[in-house]
Amino acid sequence: MTASRPDAGAPVIGLDLGGTKIAAALVAGDGAVLARHSLPTPATSGAEAVLDALAGAVRTVWAPGTTAIGVAAAGVIDPRTGTVTSATDTIRGWAGTALAAGLAARTGLPVACDNDVRAAAATELPDPHDGGNGRGVTMIYAAVGTGVGGAVAVDGRMLQGAAGIAGHLGHLPSPEADGLLCTCGATGHLEAIAAGPGITAHYTRMSGVPADRLERVAARAAGGEPHATAAVVLGAEAVGRALGGLANTLGADRVVIGGGVPRIGALYTDALDAAFAAELMAPLRKLRPVPPRGGPDAAVLGAAALPRTLPLHHPPTTTGAPRCPRLSPQP
Ligand SMILES: [Zn+2]
Repeated sequence: MTASRPDAGAPVIGLDLGGTKIAAALVAGDGAVLARHSLPTPATSGAEAVLDALAGAVRTVWAPGTTAIGVAAAGVIDPRTGTVTSATDTIRGWAGTALAAGLAARTGLPVACDNDVRAAAATELPDPHDGGNGRGVTMIYAAVGTGVGGAVAVDGRMLQGAAGIAGHLGHLPSPEADGLLCTCGATGHLEAIAAGPGITAHYTRMSGVPADRLERVAARAAGGEPHATAAVVLGAEAVGRALGGLANTLGADRVVIGGGVPRIGALYTDALDAAFAAELMAPLRKLRPVPPRGGPDAAVLGAAALPRTLPLHHPPTTTGAPRCPRLSPQP
């Protein structure tokens, strides 16, 4: 890694790596998307195959002048070491992968990487110069979907924490989740009651009626079914309380709730907002959670911004050779 940064005006390639899809974009210095490509993630073929697929995506969108690659990836990513600290089995063999080094070696370009939620969250941080007081914003970003992830920025700086794990809001103890097994192996964590599968499972526990997807529970709640309504509201309240407590702890200026679960609608967001507000100390009483500003490009744009702030991991031997010698079409 090095302190040198890509030229602010030069294009950067952003890669968003998820369990099912890789999205790639060539992003100009002003944030304009110049080229894009997406392909399926070879999730069952192992880490080397995923690195090969990422390099293939780079090759597709690359243009002369490209200075660096930013990767927003699933799993716990340590930007300092450029490795995947831990991950679920969504991508086989992903934990322990030398993501930045592997991609730099394949492409000949320097690589910065981070967790996908944190990269998207960074696009929600307002420019500190717009704030008026010169202090960066303290932000809590929650992504409530099939899990509960998140990111925390303090005074405008995104926290990475030990092993890159900062922001894992889903693994806060939650009274609503008391006794429930969490995906991390502990019991009583927020994710176990508030993630989509947690809400669905709670509905089934209360009603005895099987439900395979959150959408089904949401539809029953919209129809006035009391167990479905109770499960949705409890999940929302659990998130609201946890975030309200964190807002007090950190002195948050901005709280963003993203992910698929809030799309249930007003039943969910009203319950979350009320529970959040009930926790706030007096100086924060006007604070309310907001939806993300970013559109569908937030993850690739966040990825493309990573090389400007995070450690760059360089390819093994470039010795002043032209950039991207490895990008020529393979024989
Ligand atoms: Zn947990």
